[in-house]
Amino acid sequence: MNKKYRKTIIAGNWKMNLLPSDVKPYTDELRQLAGKVRHCEVVVCTPFVMLPQAVKAFRDSRISVGAQNVSDKDSGAFTGEVSASQLRDLGVKYVIVGHSERRAYYGETDEIVCAKVKAVLNAGLYPIICVGETSAQREQGVTDEVVSMQVKLALSGVPAEKVRHIVIAYEPIWAIGTGKTATPEDAADVCTKIRAIIRALYGARTARAVTIQYGGSMNPKNAYDLLAMHDIDGGLIGGASLKPADFAAIIDAANQ
Ligand code: PEP
Repeated sequence: MNKKYRKTIIAGNWKMNLLPSDVKPYTDELRQLAGKVRHCEVVVCTPFVMLPQAVKAFRDSRISVGAQNVSDKDSGAFTGEVSASQLRDLGVKYVIVGHSERRAYYGETDEIVCAKVKAVLNAGLYPIICVGETSAQREQGVTDEVVSMQVKLALSGVPAEKVRHIVIAYEPIWAIGTGKTATPEDAADVCTKIRAIIRALYGARTARAVTIQYGGSMNPKNAYDLLAMHDIDGGLIGGASLKPADFAAIIDAANQ
């Protein structure tokens, strides 16, 4: 699915899984299986402690490395935090920002998400901004309002020239790690609306250049149908990215 104006990006999110000793076998296998990455960019987002190894292992390949979180501050006395410039210096390219698990378990508000997006962009990295509704919000019929608000707040004060560097991941919370997947039509419907919001804020040229992923129990069986939808430009994949063979099968689906 080679979409003309924007990149298709398949990103794996390991979350807090695997060990540093798993990195080499994983990266060796994925490099071999996904050797012919053509129409998409592939990103592997590991825990912080495994980033240096992953960057080294994927050097000279078409696979990039991402972090799963970042500080909203540039530097200073912020014990335990990791800055965007530290990630850039390591060779990391992408950073997941505002994942629903961080919003739910670590109190990340839309304001914090926005500050992190700016920190990532200012460091010259690419944020993957996660948005999505809960099952209760979907049942109440307020998905569009919730997602629209999250997108607008995450981008507030972000200048137009930087918006082309962002990736948005539409991740309905009820679909994350549950085995329940949004139908391709429902997922694409929200992705199309997200693009419309970006168009209203920044114009048509910018909107068509922004990659909008779907995330939520994407796997080798459902990936092709989801990725075939016009406004779905890739996937953010948790569970199915932990096994190189499954992840490679999803990359294959994006290469069709
Ligand atoms: C995620 O971690 O963003 C995610 C979508 O997880 P899963 O694929 O396991 O639902």
